[in-house]
Amino acid sequence: MNELQALYQQMIIDHGRTPRNFGVLSSCSHHQKGVNPLCGDALEVTLLINEQDVVEDIKFTGEGCAISMASASMMTELVKGKTVQDAIDLFDDFQALVVSQDADDAVKDRLGKTAILEGVKHFPSRIKCATLSWHTLKNACQNQGEATTE
Ligand code: ZN
Repeated sequence: MNELQALYQQMIIDHGRTPRNFGVLSSCSHHQKGVNPLCGDALEVTLLINEQDVVEDIKFTGEGCAISMASASMMTELVKGKTVQDAIDLFDDFQALVVSQDADDAVKDRLGKTAILEGVKHFPSRIKCATLSWHTLKNACQNQGEATTE
């Protein structure tokens, strides 16, 4: 493992152990649950979306593996303060990164440190762990039902 990979792994472990924005918003406008039955990851995302369609606040809670927790933690940091449309666009960027594997540098720039999860593309069984929080976010924003990776 090279130094950069070691650093990335450290960031994932850090976010997995000490997730940011962990909890439930006392007053939220949108919320949704999401499950990844394959791994047993289960989370719930609560959002406060204001009249300007901006994600004013976001929190998540739940239990899961380090990848799912780290991804949710980084996702909440990334979309907070962004518009709902930007959040949906970032969902597409994240899919391009880990699912279709056709993310270019512009996509990675937009994803910021979330892009360190790119490595999961080499581990198909972990991709759903990484995308769960994003599916849950999208379903919450679009008032769709519970998100499942299956
Ligand atoms: Zn998982």
